[in-house]
Amino acid sequence: MTPNIRLTGPTPLAPSVQEAASGQMISHRSQNFRNILRDVVTRLKPLFGTAEPPMPFTTSGTGGLEAAVVNTLEPGQRVLAVKVGYFGDRFAEIAQTFGCRVVEWALPWGEGAEPSDLRKKIRESAPLDAVLLTHNETSTGVLNPLEGLAEVIRAESDALILVDGVSSVGAVPIEMDRWGIDVLVTASQKALMAPPGLALVAAGKRAMTNAQKNRIPRYFFDFSRMRAAVDEGTTTYTPALSSIFGLQAALALIEKEGLPAVYSRHQRLSKACRDGLSGLGLQPFAKKGFESPSVTSMLVPTGFSASAVRQRLQDQHATFIAQGRAQWKDSLLRFGHMGWVSQKEIQDLIDAVKAVLSC
Ligand SMILES: *Cc1c(COP(=O)(O)O)cnc(C)c1O
Repeated sequence: MTPNIRLTGPTPLAPSVQEAASGQMISHRSQNFRNILRDVVTRLKPLFGTAEPPMPFTTSGTGGLEAAVVNTLEPGQRVLAVKVGYFGDRFAEIAQTFGCRVVEWALPWGEGAEPSDLRKKIRESAPLDAVLLTHNETSTGVLNPLEGLAEVIRAESDALILVDGVSSVGAVPIEMDRWGIDVLVTASQKALMAPPGLALVAAGKRAMTNAQKNRIPRYFFDFSRMRAAVDEGTTTYTPALSSIFGLQAALALIEKEGLPAVYSRHQRLSKACRDGLSGLGLQPFAKKGFESPSVTSMLVPTGFSASAVRQRLQDQHATFIAQGRAQWKDSLLRFGHMGWVSQKEIQDLIDAVKAVLSC
């Protein structure tokens, strides 16, 4: 049975990506590598909506979030963390770890942040040096209205806007430069449909200026060093070459399909997934209007255990999904549909869930 990988990350690899990622090693100081990296960086820019070159750090998404914090913030600075789930908690924890004074705005899981509420929070917690946002909260299947949130932050303050876009970049339109986002972080293994191993981090002018004077110690994650290397067509240290090869092939697929088509496919499949599963008696967890195009979260019908459903999908249907986190572990199921996904796989998923619930 071909596995139906509906995890929320890592996402499945297209055949051309698998092939590229299994390529032979080359020197990361060779002209061949410079050509590949320049191509990757150029092709990433429209996905971030920026003219700045996204920097490839060999790490996971969390490493990218840490890089955002250690380059732009100072110990003792006031940071507002907008938390709508597990990954929002993590971003806040990273800022705390490096000595920032974190003001937390925690919403109930399943809800998204409304720009009008954020305006109040910013006024209450002023002055602020930065605001941490999760664009797409993978633990709850919630998409925050990033454009509106960024607009409010820009209008109300000079705070830097640091965004976790790990499960949104490549699935949802983002205009980093136009919306005034200072740092946008993603990772190779989510909607970019490449192997794990890379955090891609774009930093705007204000963030790069901060990076030059900021006092949090860092070496590997230094933006200035990495930016200088990327401008030369290489990376500071040995990169995850296989992931870069895979990413290049994945970006070629995205370019071939066309970004507008990629974004509308995510919308379409997300709706098909939610509607199909609702028809089986599962209940959408994300508040209406905040449903994520990349991850669908559904409450299992009463009397069912999410762990048992997930295990049976795996054992009987080779269908791999994720469960809820924390207190939602046994009541919530999460279905990934970002990256390399077809309508048929979503239909197969719904059919498999139906079979599991009826036996
Ligand atoms: C997956 C994910 C992360 C963490 O990524 P890792 O690569 O596992 O470190 C962070 N934020 C969001 C929104 C994610 O979906």
